[in-house]
Amino acid sequence: MRLILLGPPGAGKGTQAKFLVERLQIPQISTGDMLRAAVKDGTPLGRDAKQYMDRGALVPDEIIIGLVRERLQRPDCARGYILDGFPRTVTQAEALGKTLEALHASLDHVVSLEVPTEDLVLRIAGRRTCRNCGAMYHVRFSPSQTDGRCDACGGPTYQREDDREETVRRRLAVYADQTAPLISLYEAQGLLRRVPGTGEIGEIFHRITTALGA
Ligand code: AMP
Repeated sequence: MRLILLGPPGAGKGTQAKFLVERLQIPQISTGDMLRAAVKDGTPLGRDAKQYMDRGALVPDEIIIGLVRERLQRPDCARGYILDGFPRTVTQAEALGKTLEALHASLDHVVSLEVPTEDLVLRIAGRRTCRNCGAMYHVRFSPSQTDGRCDACGGPTYQREDDREETVRRRLAVYADQTAPLISLYEAQGLLRRVPGTGEIGEIFHRITTALGA
């Protein structure tokens, strides 16, 4: 199954993608994770991307498109994948369409996770990530047992630079301007599955799998 998880920052795409990986046994392809790994490794791509990410702007399309095109051709994508955080612009969506065509493949579903804006700011600004293992916490909704320490590996937890409130607001504006238009684009293609992204994580997962028939 080839699917896209669409939704604003903080909608829960990453969390739900991880559950879907387990259920469907296909990889999660998160461009945000790929970029953060490049930043951490200090690669030229990472150095370029960081300037955009830290201020809540999108990394240029040509960088992202090249990254995803290469990733989709790896053997673990043969049975499908979950795109998380890509495409984020109409240009990226068109490039994805062309890549799929060249690979004689097509999308099965586009899940649009819908969450009110005021909830998103609260969710993202409280998010903490483990610097070692990437485990995610929330200061209010799912705090780690010891403040500032990861339950899984004991590593330090931190707030992503782009999760600070003013950057979050900028990211939401960028989403509304550049990514939201993809909703009507995929709706017109008959691929869109709208899923309310509020409530219990398990309940949201159930809504998604029902929408996918999975
Ligand atoms: P995410 O973890 O998906 O919220 O992504 C974090 C940041 O990485 C975004 O705010 C962008 O700066 C960058 N990024 C991730 N995916 C994309 C994409 N598909 N296009 C452009 N920039 C992206």
